[in-house]
Amino acid sequence: MPVRLYRLPSAARRLLPDCLWRLPATDNTLYLTFDDGPIPGETPFVLEQLARFDAKGTFFCVGDNLARHPDIARQVLAAGHRLANHTQHHVSGWAVSRPEYLAEVVRCQQELDALLPAPEARPLMRPPYGRITPPLAQDLRATHQVVMWDLLTCDYDATLNPEKCLRNAIRYSRPGSIVVFHDSVKASRNLRYVLPRYLEHFAGQGYRFAAL
Ligand SMILES: [Zn+2]
Repeated sequence: MPVRLYRLPSAARRLLPDCLWRLPATDNTLYLTFDDGPIPGETPFVLEQLARFDAKGTFFCVGDNLARHPDIARQVLAAGHRLANHTQHHVSGWAVSRPEYLAEVVRCQQELDALLPAPEARPLMRPPYGRITPPLAQDLRATHQVVMWDLLTCDYDATLNPEKCLRNAIRYSRPGSIVVFHDSVKASRNLRYVLPRYLEHFAGQGYRFAAL
């Protein structure tokens, strides 16, 4: 059985203090995020589900996918959600040099800026796989808010069955949680089962869903 870390221990969070892990638990708000899109099929599915609950979310986009599917990215924006940076080619911050990594972020940001009505003062960026080093996080701080998560649903894990994925997503969510889902083909089976039920569960408990 693979070990799934739905939530990272606080010691790990402290290694990256410049990153955003969770928002204050001042009210019953959840911050849903969707990584790796935009793509046909999955991203429109997410938009439909969010609309049913008047929920807003944040979409961490791969620059390459923005270049391929700008029309889908525009739909995300038009529905009132937020687009954010997930590098141009989904690179790991542990695998490439510092200049290469920063160039990946810049390229993705150019794709985003071409779609946004106006550039954001401090755009959001999530490192693919959550892999980033403290020096890189510090470099990025000048231009971006780096966003990690409070809860990883592990929806991309094909060995995780949808019922269990949903159970854990519900169990580990708490007010102020930043929750990671994926609008990707790999996550499709779990996402399509979990997201509507997750939204229904928390909407029924009086939660609201906001973009970051
Ligand atoms: Zn990703």
